[in-house]
Amino acid sequence: MIPLALQSISEAEQPFVTRLRVATGTADAADSILVAEDIDGATFAGRNGLVSISGSPAAALDGDVVLVSSGVGRVERLLRAGGLEIPTNTLLVTERCDQLCLMCSQPPKKTHHDRFALLTEAALLAEPGSLIGITGGEPTLYKAQLLDMIETVLAARSDVEFHVLTNGQHFEDADVARLAGALYDRVTWGVPLYARQAALHDRIVGKKGAFDRLQDGLAVLLSAGCRVELRTVLLSSNFTALGELARYVTTRLRFVEAWSIMQLENVGYARKRWQELYLDHSADFGPIAAALDHAHLHGVEAQLFNFPLCTVPAPYRHLARPSISDWKRKFVPECSPCAARERCCGFFEWHPDDEARSGVRPL
Ligand code: SF4
Repeated sequence: MIPLALQSISEAEQPFVTRLRVATGTADAADSILVAEDIDGATFAGRNGLVSISGSPAAALDGDVVLVSSGVGRVERLLRAGGLEIPTNTLLVTERCDQLCLMCSQPPKKTHHDRFALLTEAALLAEPGSLIGITGGEPTLYKAQLLDMIETVLAARSDVEFHVLTNGQHFEDADVARLAGALYDRVTWGVPLYARQAALHDRIVGKKGAFDRLQDGLAVLLSAGCRVELRTVLLSSNFTALGELARYVTTRLRFVEAWSIMQLENVGYARKRWQELYLDHSADFGPIAAALDHAHLHGVEAQLFNFPLCTVPAPYRHLARPSISDWKRKFVPECSPCAARERCCGFFEWHPDDEARSGVRPL
């Protein structure tokens, strides 16, 4: 796994954002330039003084935008450079949430540490053509700060796009005019919807009335012409309800940009409830196939996230996206001879090895 946080020592008393540079050719005022490297780590110098980082060779940090927190002695690699075709990174804006999903991968905390100003600075330094994910917690609990950050960055950087994960509960009619602004053409809202049945959706997200509030929120987003990606995590409890959800999506929500059906991540709450929640799609793909067929027949772009290619029947493999970020993706030894590895999402680093190894069939 690629580490996103590294130990550091810094001269600064306050947290700051900087971009690390190994070569000086393209440096600007926000950059910290490599001045020394030995077996203990790399030292960079910038307008906030010196910062020494251990745990990674300097070359692997070149171009990374980092948050240096001197008090806790670490740097957070907010935006990794990494040479991806489309540079994609995710910023965590809050750990507070007003839902308590059964399978939450990032269990919420009660406190909020506001760092919107620092994250805005970081996003302004993103690699050209970046897609920046925003996640939480629930980002729209701080809607005013969130929208300010998005607008500040997009107004200054015409090459950047955002993808915001939100439970969709906090949009109001008064937001329509703002969200209809041209800048929001470069924002996609990723909104979870787990079932057509309100009681089932509410039970999964641990909040009474969530389904109804979500319908209001989706109405606001769609009225504003926003780009919406619906997200449905596959669970043993909503598996057989997929067909009804597909019909709902294609009738009431057919203007969404995409509908992503996602396999469960073995982390957070889901790890403790794995046997209860996990649905092995390779044992029965029927309801998923029917939902995908129905969506496509009615013009809704449906896709699969976190489904290793060889676990999906051949006619549906083209819908399985390489959705797992490189820093938390793994392949098992049985994948070595596979010709499809480049296109495959693989497994989450924390997925049980025995399940992964017994399930793969190299292509
Ligand atoms: S064998 Fe491994 S790399 Fe190949 S499709 Fe299956 S999971 Fe992906």
